[in-house]
Amino acid sequence: MVQNIIITGGARGIGFGIAKSFAEKGAGIVIADSREEEAQLAAAKLLKYGAGEAYGIRCDITNYQQVNQMVALALEKMGRIDFLVNNAGISPFIDVMELDPETFHKVMNVNISGAFYCTQIAARHMISRAEGGDAGGRVIFISSLADRFSQPSQVEYAASKSGLKGLMLGFATALAPHGITSNAVAPGMIMTPLVEHHWAQPGPAQQIKKLVPVGRIGQPSDVGKAVVFLASEDAAYINGGTLTVDVGFSVLIKS
Ligand code: NDP
Repeated sequence: MVQNIIITGGARGIGFGIAKSFAEKGAGIVIADSREEEAQLAAAKLLKYGAGEAYGIRCDITNYQQVNQMVALALEKMGRIDFLVNNAGISPFIDVMELDPETFHKVMNVNISGAFYCTQIAARHMISRAEGGDAGGRVIFISSLADRFSQPSQVEYAASKSGLKGLMLGFATALAPHGITSNAVAPGMIMTPLVEHHWAQPGPAQQIKKLVPVGRIGQPSDVGKAVVFLASEDAAYINGGTLTVDVGFSVLIKS
């Protein structure tokens, strides 16, 4: 049976990498992103990569009503939702002493509230399926090494990703009785538009060679493969876990 997935923020970067991994397996895919044209362009590419069906839907995940409409539209188009990937996230990289309250709240809203809205609304559908004897469902949260480390320019980002971990753990307890698992993937340094301005500079590019055990920055497909695993039958007994995808960067002892 073809399985269907919603990926928030899937128009580019890690989200698109995840979408591509599922497209290669023939999945039905909804890209829910703040920009409609980009989301639809991404969906068109996914069809070429093998997606059974693919749709780009404009949705600001910080707007509960828009999330409700997006999930309803996904159901109308695909009939069922098997997996939700809470990927959309922002990281403004501003020193904490310069950070204004508006930006702080925006990060919390996108990175935590948006994931809460999407999970609650998509899980209601997954639960209703389970009650009809069609069990299962997977929710995967894209976290970060910032769920355990921080730095002055990512204080609010780290707080949001720690909060996202709490959200994932809570949903893991709430949804498991319905046969739905919740897990997180914590990527290391991945080359995407969110961070490419940083890693393209000569200093940081040198740092990658020194700090990442295999000497290369990660690609969105590295994260995509981990998400495909967590959504697979092989991961059925994994719930409330965080899979770190950083090729050992965070455990390397720096001398
Ligand atoms: P990108 O900025 O490249 O892509 C994020 C996508 O999410 C964009 O299409 C963006 O659209 C969309 N988006 C942002 N806000 C919203 C919103 N409110 N509603 C709907 N869509 C939205 O980010 P990455 O691919 O780099 O990051 C994806 C996830 O991975 C994030 O959660 C990030 O924290 C996490 N991550 C990234 C790492 C990295 O090295 N890149 C490392 C660890 C974790 P728009 O352009 O309109 O804002």
